[in-house]
Amino acid sequence: MSSTLTPAQAWRALRDGNERFLHGAMEHPSQGLDRRSAVSSLQEPFAVVFGCSDSRVAAELVFDQGLGDLFVVRTAGHVVDTTVLGSIEYGVQVLGAPLVVVLGHDSCGAVGAAVEALRTGVMPTGFVRAVVDRVIPSVVSLTRPPAEGWAGGGSLTPTAAELGQEHVGVTVRMLQSYSAYLREGVEAGRVAVVGAEYALAEGRVRVVEVAGSVED
Ligand SMILES: [Zn+2]
Repeated sequence: MSSTLTPAQAWRALRDGNERFLHGAMEHPSQGLDRRSAVSSLQEPFAVVFGCSDSRVAAELVFDQGLGDLFVVRTAGHVVDTTVLGSIEYGVQVLGAPLVVVLGHDSCGAVGAAVEALRTGVMPTGFVRAVVDRVIPSVVSLTRPPAEGWAGGGSLTPTAAELGQEHVGVTVRMLQSYSAYLREGVEAGRVAVVGAEYALAEGRVRVVEVAGSVED
């Protein structure tokens, strides 16, 4: 089975759902007994959402979707490992979803922890360190020293908002560099990857970076 939507149509459905959520006009689609029964034997989600595990960034809620609509992968700070890549590829390749959304958010604790670890030199203990380790490259990429010959001006200290958005962009690029299947899908126009940031207080999802096309 596979979704019959184009990447642009899938993104429009998510954008419309977020618009409803934003204004408190949710339709709570695909949540009735009939839907539960209909999708019990097969699923054809129209999008993969790879987001932060943050309890306030629940994919089906912020996009006003229901059962069988989204194939959701979440890790703290939407950090990538091989099982994440495999899960995303499964959603696209096997289930036929035409769209992957990387969903970061403002005030992300994982990004904050990476900044703190770089500032103090103290790493978290246990496996939390594995999360922070995977966010640090995004933070470093934005705070690297200026190129040779740089004549000054501007600030070299990125804001928390800039760091969060950079981490979303880095994640979008990382998915394509690791997954040949995704990269080829984007190049062929079968798949699009949208990097987006959710605003906790406002409820709006804003686009940070797009690979492929989601234009109608
Ligand atoms: Zn987060």
